[in-house]
Amino acid sequence: MALQEISRAVKIHDYIGKLERLTNLSLKNSPIILGLSSQKNIFDLPPDTKDSYEYVEQLYGDISDHDLLFKAMRTGWSYLNSSRKLFPESKEECYKQLIKSYAFHKAKQLGYLISDNQLKEKQVCHGEYEAYYAVHEIFYGHALGIWERKSDFDWFMYNYASWHQNVKLITSQFIVPSSLHQNITPYILDQLWLVCDAKNQVRLLGLEISGEQHFFNRIDRDSKTLGNENHLKSLGYEMYYVPSWWCRVDPYRVICEFLDVSGIFPDAIRYLIGSELNSIDKYICGICHAPMVRWNWDWIQKCKVGNSTVLAHKSCAIHQSSSCC
Ligand SMILES: [Zn+2]
Repeated sequence: MALQEISRAVKIHDYIGKLERLTNLSLKNSPIILGLSSQKNIFDLPPDTKDSYEYVEQLYGDISDHDLLFKAMRTGWSYLNSSRKLFPESKEECYKQLIKSYAFHKAKQLGYLISDNQLKEKQVCHGEYEAYYAVHEIFYGHALGIWERKSDFDWFMYNYASWHQNVKLITSQFIVPSSLHQNITPYILDQLWLVCDAKNQVRLLGLEISGEQHFFNRIDRDSKTLGNENHLKSLGYEMYYVPSWWCRVDPYRVICEFLDVSGIFPDAIRYLIGSELNSIDKYICGICHAPMVRWNWDWIQKCKVGNSTVLAHKSCAIHQSSSCC
């Protein structure tokens, strides 16, 4: 475990260093939220909600899309509202789901114009799997120091419970039309969140993991983001953009920031160990001084060394505490 923790971290830190030199950008100090919707986009549920399972089951069963989601909300809201089918159960299942998520193949079946090259493209970028899995772990009570009582513990637990209560669907690789003309290549959102805001009101939040290729291709990220956002907003979506390099170092941190800024779970970040590390360069073990990444939720731990408390690899922290006893 010690070797895996350190070798993975060294590889990722080196990779980001190379990427910085290639792009001439200061990626290690980049913000974690690269862009976000200027306001909440809340809308009322369609009035004719019936109690049908058909479209909701389709949402759970395959890569989903804008039309299917709205049909499911219109015809099966009470089922969607009470169901807890949010994620695959295990890390392996989660990985399999993303790997087999051929969103462009599905989009082609739905009648979108998709080129042969797009069909061949690897559609899950670095960081996407890590971010999706981090959501899974945080949702099921890992990663956050839930039982670490701070002065605002009651407020934290209230937000934690509300988050669980209000999130109705989280799905990866969600297809959204990119224009009014159905046959243009669609957007593929990396994550879609369906969240209740109040009774009979919902929000649709899209989380986009901006990959390194955005820099290699010299795409003007800001203008692209703005153009996308206006269209997506008109369809009912709020967009949040996060960097893939941060997802590779600390996907838990990225998801907590998203939960916080979106208002779905205010202050989630305060209960994450090591949330004070505001640059990738600071992810260094306080014991062995090698780089750290949080691939598993418990890979960064607090540990006493002499009179001070440091952040350390899990394996270093375990070794340290056993040698103290
Ligand atoms: Zn260490």
